Amino acid sequence: MYQVVIPIMSYLCLKVNYISVLITVWYNSVIMRLSKTFIKTLRDAPKDETAKNGALLTRAGYIHKEMAGVYDFLPLGLRVIENIKKIIREELNALGCEEIQMTALQNPEPWEKTGRFDDQEVDIWFKTELASGGELGLAPTHEEPVTSLLKTYISSYKDLPVAVYQFQTKFRNELRAKSGILRGREFLMKDLYSFHSSEEDLNEFYAEVEKAYGRIFERLGLGTETFETFASGGIFSKYSHEYQTFLPVGEDTVYYNGDKSVVLNKEVLEPEVLADLGVKREELAETTAAEVGNIFKLKFKYSEPLELQFADENNQLKTVYMGCYGIGVSRVMGVIAEKFADEKGLCWPESVAPFKYYLVGIGERGTREAEKFYDAHTDETLFDDRSARPGEKFADSELMGIPYRVVISDKTLAENAAEVTSRMTGETKLIKLDNLA
Ligand code: ATP
Ligand code: MG
Repeated sequence: MYQVVIPIMSYLCLKVNYISVLITVWYNSVIMRLSKTFIKTLRDAPKDETAKNGALLTRAGYIHKEMAGVYDFLPLGLRVIENIKKIIREELNALGCEEIQMTALQNPEPWEKTGRFDDQEVDIWFKTELASGGELGLAPTHEEPVTSLLKTYISSYKDLPVAVYQFQTKFRNELRAKSGILRGREFLMKDLYSFHSSEEDLNEFYAEVEKAYGRIFERLGLGTETFETFASGGIFSKYSHEYQTFLPVGEDTVYYNGDKSVVLNKEVLEPEVLADLGVKREELAETTAAEVGNIFKLKFKYSEPLELQFADENNQLKTVYMGCYGIGVSRVMGVIAEKFADEKGLCWPESVAPFKYYLVGIGERGTREAEKFYDAHTDETLFDDRSARPGEKFADSELMGIPYRVVISDKTLAENAAEVTSRMTGETKLIKLDNLA
């Protein structure tokens, strides 16, 4: 019997594998050829789109506006989001954090225990009702449910520490939503929560996250413009730390001294804080910034009301120490778009760009060689194989902000080369076809 079943099973496995390879090849051939994808660049952005990031991302085919503060992410936009997520995921996994995905629908119960289901306390709730009766919320953040979730898994000091994170859609009924994807009523956040048996352990982990955030913003291309900023804490900590990217259209006001080693949010610009930080008011300059991340030492803020406890070495019940660490993933995409855009359009750092190359073949031979380049670099290439004029293609490559435009034509082939132009610097080089890889 097995002699028959095993070959049949392995044949079927191979078959399934083959089909999945075929599907992948088909998917790639659709998504990366402009002649096959449904997206088009648009001459105009919607009239009510006043933010630069929203207008450019819409015109370049990355996002689509449903209504104020509510956007769809199209194939190119989704690739940028995935690249941002990949960088964050790699850095958090390296700290030993575990990825989960929680629900957006919220049981009011844990929120009632902390007082945060009350619209007077949290004024941005979206709430809805069950057909069978009873209220539900759409999560604006996840401290309460994650604390309740961990009650099932933490009972002893041996279960600690724990660090879990997710990439999750958050819902906030923001009063104003005129900043494109910088402020959504529905947006993507990475939220990490850590659980510890002692304050020292929380402090050590917090310091590790600070370093990881430094690496994340560096890799996202925002390193030189993003600063860890003192901001208001809460009942258990004097300060929280925000990550603020200096940006003309940023909604926050921050104060910094010349070398930027001290940056603080306007909300904590008080004599006592200045004394704490060892700076004088007249040493500080004012600027606007976008909050791309925010980290807190929560300590017992949620674990106490939700009774998340553990038994220590002496079997004494103690309350778990907590920290929380957010990054606004979709806001980060908008900040990068705003930061690097010029009069021609978007301009992505390589680490987040949807594709590395924007490929154009001109003439019969040029097109044939372009097909070869595309075969060799399918995953990294957006192939403009439309029957449009080169000038139109060049303008779209600039609007879309792909890091390198690769043009292969009779002229470049005379040199056995391709013309490669950097979007960031505008620099053009002829590179021999053999060296292109
Ligand atoms: P803001 O002050 O901008 O309203 P927040 O302090 O209320 O933000 P947090 O609760 O700290 O936001 O959320 C973590 C991160 O999520 C923020 O640092 C920010 O990058 C992002 N974020 C918050 N609200 C929005 C929003 N409406 N749209 C897009 N991103 C957001
Ligand atoms: Mg914040």
